[in-house]
Amino acid sequence: MPRVFVARLRPRIGRGTSVTWSWLTGPAFVVNWCRYMNFSAECATESLALVHELSVTYLPDSDQPVHALDHASLEIRPGELVGILGESGSGKSTLAAALLKLLPTDARYDSGTIHFRGRDLLALPETALRRIRGAEIALIPQEPALALNPAIRVGDQIAEVLRAHVRMTRRDRTTRVEELLIEVGFDRPRPIYHAYPHQLSGGQRQRVVIAQAVACRPKLVIADEATSKLDASLQAEIIALMREISQRHRMAFVVISHDPTVLAGFVDRIAVMYAGRMVEEGCIEDIFRRPLHPYTQALVRLSARYLPSARTRVRFPAIDGEPPNLTGRIVGCPFAPRCPERMQVCTERDLRETTPRLSQRVSCFKYGN
Ligand code: ATP
Ligand code: MG
Repeated sequence: MPRVFVARLRPRIGRGTSVTWSWLTGPAFVVNWCRYMNFSAECATESLALVHELSVTYLPDSDQPVHALDHASLEIRPGELVGILGESGSGKSTLAAALLKLLPTDARYDSGTIHFRGRDLLALPETALRRIRGAEIALIPQEPALALNPAIRVGDQIAEVLRAHVRMTRRDRTTRVEELLIEVGFDRPRPIYHAYPHQLSGGQRQRVVIAQAVACRPKLVIADEATSKLDASLQAEIIALMREISQRHRMAFVVISHDPTVLAGFVDRIAVMYAGRMVEEGCIEDIFRRPLHPYTQALVRLSARYLPSARTRVRFPAIDGEPPNLTGRIVGCPFAPRCPERMQVCTERDLRETTPRLSQRVSCFKYGN
């Protein structure tokens, strides 16, 4: 243990307390020390956020229940860039909103847990959650219209996030907003500060939304299809910007996309979702070079054939067949009806996750079950 740590401990331990080196360096001490010094649990456990077996059902008034998340698990470590990949309706946005406990009122958390820096988010009161949202976890929502109020100048909207979470004078806040605007790539921040959202281009609005998200230096930023409305070259610029910010401030990013090419140059690890489940998870190398699940294989194969042109948006091609109906309980693998390697067992028994390769987990009968 570095000498400075011990020096800081001495006054608190008090004179006359006998402390041996083995006690000082043991794992139990490190955990307790982190707590004592008000350090977050992540420095001891190396887990920033942990979603465990989360199931969520929407209960619309006039329709059947939709099982949007089915025992989905995901771990995010500090500073990590994690991609969530999946077709439309696979539950990506539901997972993102659940991580902030921001699901609509017709959603029910059926089972599972969400821990963030050691705290059980599903058990926290709303006042505590409000302190976390924006300050510790920020969301870049799928709809840019949800992020910016059309009637308020963009600088004031960024300042509002700071006002809610950081104690500072009005003047300091304005200076800080201008610094943030420079950080996200505006050479002349003042005219941007005073602009309304409709006076900015799509790319400029997205930069403003990123400035707003990172204003309080959150530990985790969730970008839900943050670039899907932009053309390919702007998409690349925004991705490079988010990566740079993540590295500079050691912020973890969860980047959600239905398009593997968006995640390819950005994230370290990818979790693949299908029908509300995590069907495969692995590092970027494994997912792109050695995908295990037939669904991941299909997504990656299609992405290899799909070459987005520089200034246009091309729709990512779809896999043959329809995603499953999530109103009933699915026995076995939800991808089975579309799977070219379907076996009889795939629709007969429930699936468990296996880890055929170190740090690559998959839910597929091909890999034992
Ligand atoms: P996309 O790529 O289209 O954004 P997604 O992967 O983000 O899709 P979700 O938006 O999480 O998927 O939706 C998962 C499932 O839950 C879908 O079947 C969707 O229709 C359903 N759903 C989402 N929100 C609600 C809601 N408020 N009420 C009822 N069903 C909902
Ligand atoms: Mg979505």
